[in-house]
Amino acid sequence: MSATDTCLFCRIVRREIPATIVWENAHALAFRDIKPESPTHLLVVPKRHVGSLNDATDAQLLGELLLAAREIAEGEGIAQSGYRTVVNTGRDAGQTVFHLHVHVLGGRHMKWPPG
Ligand code: 5GP
Ligand code: ZN
Repeated sequence: MSATDTCLFCRIVRREIPATIVWENAHALAFRDIKPESPTHLLVVPKRHVGSLNDATDAQLLGELLLAAREIAEGEGIAQSGYRTVVNTGRDAGQTVFHLHVHVLGGRHMKWPPG
């Protein structure tokens, strides 16, 4: 059994687990977070399994994820009001799903620094 068989986000990419998918292209998929922390909260993931930013080697793919985040923010109508993109990497950052994802959060004012 490989990591991708059981990986939650790989399973969403394969449509084995339901999710509210809002955007996709050949390399990435975006869907709504199941436990939103802001009025708009989406996750952008590569379709190919990458465990975390620590495992990422494909600069083009990383760029595509960020450009996707911007496009999604535009589609959600939060590009002008503002939004936060977050990549939690590893234990101290609070990463809970080990398939690389970019959070796109918006629709409310956010504080800095994050907790
Ligand atoms: P992390 O803590 O790893 O940065 O973020 C993982 C995110 O995935 C969390 O915000 C969590 O709410 C979300 N999440 C966990 N399980 C599911 C699920 O089954 N479906 C969706 N749509 N989001 C999930
Ligand atoms: Zn995966």
